Amino acid sequence: MDDLRELYQQLILDHNQNPRNFREIKDADRAAHGHNPLCGDDIDLYLTLEDDVIRDIGFLGSGCAISKASASIMTTVLKGKTRTEAQELLEQFHRMATTGEGDPKKLGKLTALADVYKFPIRVKCAMLAWRTMEAGLEEQPETITTE
Ligand code: ZN
Repeated sequence: MDDLRELYQQLILDHNQNPRNFREIKDADRAAHGHNPLCGDDIDLYLTLEDDVIRDIGFLGSGCAISKASASIMTTVLKGKTRTEAQELLEQFHRMATTGEGDPKKLGKLTALADVYKFPIRVKCAMLAWRTMEAGLEEQPETITTE
């Protein structure tokens, strides 16, 4: 448990307890559903786009602290980003979550999850919101599962 506790840093705890943008967007342009059967994490993601820019983003769901904190932090960094920037951040976040490497200047608050790579089973928890967001942007209609 000590190792896991290390992972649950202050920011993660905060975002888990008080998730940001934790709401359905009724008139969202895009919505996607993500599920991580390995852990039981579940997320509904809502996006409002204006041209190529993410104007609003919200989510609802239930799951472990990592999945919820990752989704919450993700929504705070993606608002105002273009589709291309969102995709780039996804790739950088994925690299950090799987190798622990990345540019803190670009990743910002996302570095709170930098230790996830030490816990391979938790990588899917951290990636779920991002994969769901990607599916929403690409208008994939089906539920996204991490399996
Ligand atoms: Zn999880």
